[in-house]
Amino acid sequence: MLRGFFLGFIKIHILHHAGEEPLYGLSLIEELRRHGYRLSPGTVYPILHGLTEDGYLRREDRVVDGKVRKYYSITAPGRRALAQSQRQIAELVREVIDHRSPRAHRRPRAGRRTRAKRKRAS
Ligand SMILES: [Zn+2]
Repeated sequence: MLRGFFLGFIKIHILHHAGEEPLYGLSLIEELRRHGYRLSPGTVYPILHGLTEDGYLRREDRVVDGKVRKYYSITAPGRRALAQSQRQIAELVREVIDHRSPRAHRRPRAGRRTRAKRKRAS
């Protein structure tokens, strides 16, 4: 059910890391696992292919230990999409995370009210 939501997070995460250094499928799966996303190659590769087809990533084949490994790095449109996502994320955090705590603090606690009443009574 939550997969649809997380897909966007994962895509942004991929752009972020592909912007730091070229990445390949397995390194990405390990990185995402570190963040609590357990994804199979069957999920990750189609996302990488989709981002490449849409022009956000560029694929480069390198030979590592005699095997061809597909590396992905960010493109100029990918950097623009990442920058825009960063602004949206900051806005979302302000709205959904930061606004949540002040309201929780504003709510008076039952224990304190009882103590105040007791003080007034004595
Ligand atoms: Zn990460």
